[in-house]
Amino acid sequence: MADGVTLPEAAPSRLTRLVGAMRAVFGLAVDVALPQLCASCREPVGSDGLCPACWSRISFIAPPYCERLGIPFPYDPGPGVLSMEAIADPPAYRRARVAVRFDDVARALVHALKYGDRLDLAPMMGRWMATAGRSLTADADALIPVPLHWRRYWARRFNQSALLAEAISKASGVPVVLDALKRVKATPQQVGLSQSARALNVQGAFRVSPAGKAAVAGRRLILVDDVITTGATVDACARALLRAGAADVSALAFARVVAAARPPI
Ligand SMILES: [Zn+2]
Repeated sequence: MADGVTLPEAAPSRLTRLVGAMRAVFGLAVDVALPQLCASCREPVGSDGLCPACWSRISFIAPPYCERLGIPFPYDPGPGVLSMEAIADPPAYRRARVAVRFDDVARALVHALKYGDRLDLAPMMGRWMATAGRSLTADADALIPVPLHWRRYWARRFNQSALLAEAISKASGVPVVLDALKRVKATPQQVGLSQSARALNVQGAFRVSPAGKAAVAGRRLILVDDVITTGATVDACARALLRAGAADVSALAFARVVAAARPPI
């Protein structure tokens, strides 16, 4: 995320040219000598983001799952059956799909992307999401990353959900719309909050900008987030998009917190 600022410089002396050349040589040597580390356990790996042991522990979410929330079922109850969560507390979004369960490997990947500046993980994570969300992207007009408040964006300098959305876009062909949905309230981190506290925390936190209305009204949209915990954040986003006239809103996340296996109703 270099900002591309170049400083005016004097003609390089012979010494600076020599130092530059050495740096190029040694920099290359360092790149070759340092193997990439597994994003989860920090063991050296080849080209991908995970070592074979961590890779084998990733828990992909596959059918059977709740048609509405994408929560996996321990057995196949037949087509169209919904989870207890979807019936008791139906979300504003129509459907959610998720790539993996939020376990310790998934947590390590999300943290590495979000805080560890392992931005190189986004294409892999986005590809998994594109696979999980195929039924959503098949008839969607745009991907909308869950926005950060501008203050957090300034501190972090990137939005991890936007990086994932770009990767999903590459795999699916559905374009990303970046600036339509705004986080207008700087909400405290959701970590450690109860389900009702989370819902209260994000109430009124999102709004479609006047300029963004045209990109949202009458469109079929997919919200993109890194983790769905209780679903309060994507639900608040979906409400804001529907208020602005969106025709349909679904959600696609990298990981979802899934409680112990529960049978469907
Ligand atoms: Zn590992």
